[in-house]
Amino acid sequence: MSTNYVFVTGGVLSGLGKGITTASIGLILKSKGFKVTAMKIDPYVNVDAGTLRPTEHGEVWVTDDGGEIDQDLGHYERFLNQDIGREHNITTGQVYGEVIRRERAGEYLGQTVQPIPHVTDEIKRRIHAVAEHTGAEFVMVEIGGTVGDYESILFLEAARQMRLAGESTFFAHVVYMPVLRSVGEAKTKPIQHSVRELNGYGIQPDLIVVRSENPVDQPRRAKIALFCNVRSDDIIDNHDVRSVYEVPIVLDAQQVGEKILSKLGIAPRPTDLEEWSAFVDRLYNAEKSVRIGIVGKYFDIGDYKLPDAYVSVIEAIKHAAAANGVRADITWLDSKAYEKDPQAVSELATYDGIIVPGGFGSSGVEGKINAIKFVRENKIPYLGLCYGLQLAVVEFARDVCGIAGAHTTECDPNTKEPVIDFLPWQKELIARKEYGGTMRLGGQMTIVNPGTLAHDLYKKDAARERFRHRYEINPRYIERLTHAGFVFSGYADAKFTRGEPVMQIGELPRDVHPFLLGTQAHPELTSRPLRPNPLYVGFIAASAERANGRAE
Ligand code: GLN
Repeated sequence: MSTNYVFVTGGVLSGLGKGITTASIGLILKSKGFKVTAMKIDPYVNVDAGTLRPTEHGEVWVTDDGGEIDQDLGHYERFLNQDIGREHNITTGQVYGEVIRRERAGEYLGQTVQPIPHVTDEIKRRIHAVAEHTGAEFVMVEIGGTVGDYESILFLEAARQMRLAGESTFFAHVVYMPVLRSVGEAKTKPIQHSVRELNGYGIQPDLIVVRSENPVDQPRRAKIALFCNVRSDDIIDNHDVRSVYEVPIVLDAQQVGEKILSKLGIAPRPTDLEEWSAFVDRLYNAEKSVRIGIVGKYFDIGDYKLPDAYVSVIEAIKHAAAANGVRADITWLDSKAYEKDPQAVSELATYDGIIVPGGFGSSGVEGKINAIKFVRENKIPYLGLCYGLQLAVVEFARDVCGIAGAHTTECDPNTKEPVIDFLPWQKELIARKEYGGTMRLGGQMTIVNPGTLAHDLYKKDAARERFRHRYEINPRYIERLTHAGFVFSGYADAKFTRGEPVMQIGELPRDVHPFLLGTQAHPELTSRPLRPNPLYVGFIAASAERANGRAE
């Protein structure tokens, strides 16, 4: 079968869940036995998402091959349950970077280099490359942003050209139907305008996916169909549901897969979402709740709270909770508050488990350290993610080893006790101000020591996880930390690093603490609904145990 391209565009406003729609359609097609992959076009000029502020753009997703990318790739990996590489992300910066490089190299042989066709050719080349390298029968292509944005025009134009050239293409347009409270009515006009805008680029959608608070009723459906030039059958209702994981089920019930296959002239095949539905059932039907507190700092933008900065952490918690048959109630705890008022950490006693997630810079750090001291002393389950491991080590060094001035050089470059310090090669990169894409990034092996909590959870001697950091546990302190009772249960062998082993998992022995474990990796990046990450599963299990004790 030649490759089929399913383009997903968005209209009316951003944040509609185009990524979830893309991932859900991909999952439906995959469950029909097709080879599917997905890619994301981000029309911004940044080369990648690595340099974007988390409060503005949400969490940076790290691919196994070391790409720093928009979190939609995370949705694709979670739904499709497969690794997706950095090549599956295209930005304006990458496209123009390559076109300009080729122009300077004289590769255009004297032609006038123009947005059309040269830039659009480069866009198509990148889309085709993904098809070729993955051998996918279906490539889902999500075009980020909203139709009408200047910056997405060339990407839409490239898609239009692919259809014109006779490639097998399908266009799904995800739109928003607002409900005007004052008149109590759902309005379709913004949808009509956005489809007209898309038509203006020469694209007629094959399917309109309507996001709304409430289901699309018959009169609205008829109106959208008539004014947007689609059959009413091709209007898909995707109103708010309790969990994004239900969306594939909602779309499948409306035969989205069948509609795509029929339009592309491909014989129908049954969908198999049995395992997926069982996961959603576990998610929805868990009765017991565990209270998980996340002590972080990237929460607010203006007056709004934006847990998007930790989306993979939240999803990994849900996967692990479902695996344990419990429901996780997550509370955001601002680490800066524990700096202003160190006594306030005592509220952590009301939680069943605490996470300190990844982070950068010094703001809120002493608050996180106060929180870690409290959970260590009060035997509250703790999972430290990257910075959360490093700060647990700082805390242990200060309070247990008695190294009073212990710190990370990220916060205090002149500290006399740098228990956390630059990875050796990172120091040089920073001195040269080479920030973009230069952290220790992507999938790396961790050797896991038998007899440890980490080994019990992974149940193997080596685990692959994804990383994004510049600092590490300073090898000069390992002996003192170990001597005082800190256990390094996982490390990167020197052959995977640049000459020296890097400590990657740290924990306290179980006779000292029920669950205190930190990892230099981001295990949330490999957690999937049908394959929850073992460290999260263990952490939630320990939290559930504490919840049981609390209830008695
Ligand atoms: N700031 C720390 C480092 O660069 C931790 C990074 C993280 O949490 N991802 O090593």
